[in-house]
Amino acid sequence: MTDAASLPGQPRGGVVSGPATARAVNVLAPNPSAMTLDGTNTWIVSEPDSDLAVVIDPGPLDEGHLHTVVDTAEKAGKRIALTLLTHGHADHAEGAARFAELTGTRVRALDPALRLGDEGLGAGDVITVGGLELRVVPTPGHTADSLSFHLPADRAVLTGDTVLGRGTTVVAHPDGRLGDYLDSLRRLRSLTVDDGVRTILPGHGPVLQDAQGAVEYYLAHRAHRLAQVETAVEMGYRTPAEVVAHVYADVDRSLWPAAELSVRAQLDYLAEHGIVQP
Ligand SMILES: [Zn+2]
Repeated sequence: MTDAASLPGQPRGGVVSGPATARAVNVLAPNPSAMTLDGTNTWIVSEPDSDLAVVIDPGPLDEGHLHTVVDTAEKAGKRIALTLLTHGHADHAEGAARFAELTGTRVRALDPALRLGDEGLGAGDVITVGGLELRVVPTPGHTADSLSFHLPADRAVLTGDTVLGRGTTVVAHPDGRLGDYLDSLRRLRSLTVDDGVRTILPGHGPVLQDAQGAVEYYLAHRAHRLAQVETAVEMGYRTPAEVVAHVYADVDRSLWPAAELSVRAQLDYLAEHGIVQP
């Protein structure tokens, strides 16, 4: 629940956390949990002098939250012209159909099952709305359908669940694959090194002002976990549950089911690379 929820007549969900960059405003969905951190970040992105906006990840199906997103745009003098999804997990996408109904927008996503309208979304696409430019960066690994959106004018990238504002993300086996995920992190690193991206606008948690440092940390963390999993297997821990109990002993048990997905992805990766025979 949020502070806004306790005020009569206020929408039940959604907290506007103010502009994160010149072009991006976050409305925080009221779905906090161990897996979603403070809740899902719904991003409203637009050119400062334009009356059109793009919404990325409407979030869960929470009527109050969806209305807060629309109201926030309207108060800024903007009409929502397009809805985009970073991936299909319910905490990002469940409210998309209702949001599209409220705003009369199309929904574009990599997964055809999530789209409303006939336009897809994929690698190399450039979205332009009211002068705003977003470049689609495929970042599979958390899920197969994960996309990031490069916002060059703000030297920022919206990463969905590929990079989070706190902690690290889950490689959601079997849909998410570790090899893909590492490639995606390297793609994001190249955005920071070669394209001047400074800021990460994540799907959960706070904005990261050191994009390159965050991506380097994610790569180091993944390598560290992979080495731990490899060692655990060499020590005789065989099942994913055994490996989790050993490698993630210091992590809260409520996160173990999620950790097991990452461990399964890591065991697959090790087997595929001939490092450990399953
Ligand atoms: Zn997700």
